[in-house]
Amino acid sequence: MQTKNSKGPRAKRRKPSNTKNHKPRPARNGRGNEKARNQSKLDPQELRNQALPREEQHFEASFDFADSPLHPKLKELLQQKGYQKPTEIQEKSLEALLAGRDLLGIAKTGSGKTAAFLLPILQQQIAGKHQALVLAPTRELAVQIEQEYRSLNKGLKLFSEVYIGGTNMNKDLQKASRPTDLIVATPGRLLDLYQRRAISFKHLKVLVIDEFDRLLDMGFERDLNKILDALPIERQNLLFSATLDKSQERKIAEILNDPVRLQISSGDLSNDHVQQELIHLAPGDVKIEVLKKMLENPQMDKVIIFAETKRWVSKVNRKLRQAGIKTDEIHGDKSQNYRQKALNSFKAGKLQCLIATDVAARGIDVDDVSHVINYQIPKTMDSYIHRVGRTGRAGKSGIAYTFVESK
Ligand code: ADP
Ligand code: MG
Repeated sequence: MQTKNSKGPRAKRRKPSNTKNHKPRPARNGRGNEKARNQSKLDPQELRNQALPREEQHFEASFDFADSPLHPKLKELLQQKGYQKPTEIQEKSLEALLAGRDLLGIAKTGSGKTAAFLLPILQQQIAGKHQALVLAPTRELAVQIEQEYRSLNKGLKLFSEVYIGGTNMNKDLQKASRPTDLIVATPGRLLDLYQRRAISFKHLKVLVIDEFDRLLDMGFERDLNKILDALPIERQNLLFSATLDKSQERKIAEILNDPVRLQISSGDLSNDHVQQELIHLAPGDVKIEVLKKMLENPQMDKVIIFAETKRWVSKVNRKLRQAGIKTDEIHGDKSQNYRQKALNSFKAGKLQCLIATDVAARGIDVDDVSHVINYQIPKTMDSYIHRVGRTGRAGKSGIAYTFVESK
């Protein structure tokens, strides 16, 4: 095995526009159609460019949360969480969001986008009824966002619910009749509840679409449009992601009204806290054996391994388990209960590896993920950026390895 980081003469910062126009755009709704998704290929050369060292852009917050206009109770909760200063996206979006402006926020993976939208919502909710809806592309991410909201509203008598697929519908129907300050949902289940008239958006004041480029993508388009049609016209709209797809500008303009645009990262570069390496197999190397060998390194103690298909995920999981490695898997064929349990065990440090499809690529925040490994080269640059962004979060560093076919 040899790793390559291409720090040679090409070590010049790539212009952000390189990948934009010919970025492959397969169907990516995560619910099958794997065949279509497998038709396009990401060029390893583009990954080499991603892996080039870049000048780190260091941000110095201009205030502590303690000196911010936030409510004293919120300040106290932030302190309990160990959030002393805002991250760049949090600082730069706060004023506009408190003033009720629409916003497009592009900032790197792990840069605190969740609190960037939750804090102004909470501030407005402390002042009076101010119902908000957050849409997320995956169930686990929806659960995580609601957990973050709960950790920031202790003692404030605010109520939240999560509505995601793969869970008991009757329970959701009961929950939906209760007054709720924050709804976090994946589009399918939310629409289902709306169409059964279990839920109403009459009092909704804020819409957040987290990982919006994913949700504006084909797989979600129909459900999302129906949800948008059901919302009050007068509302604040917030779109957040680490990546931006230029072809979605028209759709973005339809949703946002005179927005503030904050583009803290270029939207097509990966997080510079992540050291990125490509792995070329030598003739005769067997990939799974190389992977097992890598996992003997004691520093690889919290590793997310991405594979392209559900079947590959299961296969890698099985092989690693046979080798006595503590692993589990997450993909669309597993029950929601199983998926959430596997993720929780991984979060709790009970597993060395979590093997996953792209269902775990977006938004999932696990402390101290040491490594991300792409067992196969991902199909799109967006997918790559979000996967490697599962490590190197909140200013920490991480390492990402990608297996590439030898040429
Ligand atoms: P993003 O959505 O940009 O990928 P998250 O919102 O998931 O990032 O936040 C990444 C991590 O940073 C989380 O573990 C979160 O708790 C932490 N975090 C967020 N804001 C702050 C802050 N102001 N200070 C310290 N840690 C923070
Ligand atoms: Mg996020």
